[in-house]
Amino acid sequence: YAKQRGKNRVERYQKRYDELLRRHSVLETELRHAIARDQLRLVFQPVVALPSMRIVGAEALLRWYHPELGAVRPDEFIPVAEESGLINRLGAWVLQQSCRQLAQWLVAGHDVWVSVNLSPKELHAADYAGQVADALEEYGVPAQRLVLEVTEHAVATDMDELIARLGELRATGVRIALDDFGAGYSSLGQLRSLPVDILKIDHALVAEPESRTGMAAPLVDVVVRLGHRLGLEVLAEGIGTPAQRAVVEEAGCRLGQGSLFGWGVPAEHLEVQLRTLRSGAARPAPAPRAAA
Ligand code: C2E
Ligand code: MG
Ligand code: MG
Ligand code: MG
Repeated sequence: YAKQRGKNRVERYQKRYDELLRRHSVLETELRHAIARDQLRLVFQPVVALPSMRIVGAEALLRWYHPELGAVRPDEFIPVAEESGLINRLGAWVLQQSCRQLAQWLVAGHDVWVSVNLSPKELHAADYAGQVADALEEYGVPAQRLVLEVTEHAVATDMDELIARLGELRATGVRIALDDFGAGYSSLGQLRSLPVDILKIDHALVAEPESRTGMAAPLVDVVVRLGHRLGLEVLAEGIGTPAQRAVVEEAGCRLGQGSLFGWGVPAEHLEVQLRTLRSGAARPAPAPRAAA
């Protein structure tokens, strides 16, 4: 009887594994055509200055809408793109579209920057810095208006190599953000030797105050101070409640991002918020969740 139960469990496991493999291969095949079939879009999530809540920038987040698969989340398809090598083509598309959008906002007189997420693979591709310089030139975007976000995963690889690549990127004049800081294992010593400009505190740290009372405020506090001591700008991600915003503000953090200020929305929607801001409204209207 026990043997039969074990066998069923193995079969269930095998079945689940087969399903995952099949899903992976379907995603890979379909992703290959996503650009040509016009299934990719960027949404832009506002970055606000604290405590004013004025929009100062936006993070470009990739969306994939497939006619049969529906909306596939980046957390699912980005790893597929990374493993299959498609990420370089997707990343090039994201970079182009982001620069195009940024140029449009700048021409319209909006004082914003745009940040783009980078996979470690893209960073290590031959002459990625050249690609960035070309995109900036093509769209006539001042380099300091573009921020490139790298994650702690990139930090886990060869440090000297990473420092060299980030140095090349920075030489083009763009700013570098270290994304998801505090979620992984990069050490404080590594942070000190990395040529970065902005430290993005991971939402897990920001969310803590409500789950583990009394513990998290000191963590956010310490990371904000550390960042400032190293001469970095510090941005808190995933701010979802006024209480979280209060903790972040009390820690002295001057940049924030999260559902409290708005999810990622199509560029036209963000533009409406930017225009409202310029016409004197004090705070951006929160964007609807559905668009994220
Ligand atoms: P990330 O760069 O850390 O982006 C932040 C993620 O948190 C986004 O999810 C965003 O929608 C979500 N988020 C924003 N505010 C809140 C909040 O208040 N609460 C919570 N719980 N979540 C919030 P998204 O868009 O699903 O992206 C997930 C990850 O996929 C990104 O994490 C990034 O690592 C990756 N990604 C997205 N677009 C690109 C891209 O164009 N290229 C690359 N290489 N990676 C990308
Ligand atoms: Mg990011
Ligand atoms: Mg992040
Ligand atoms: Mg993330």
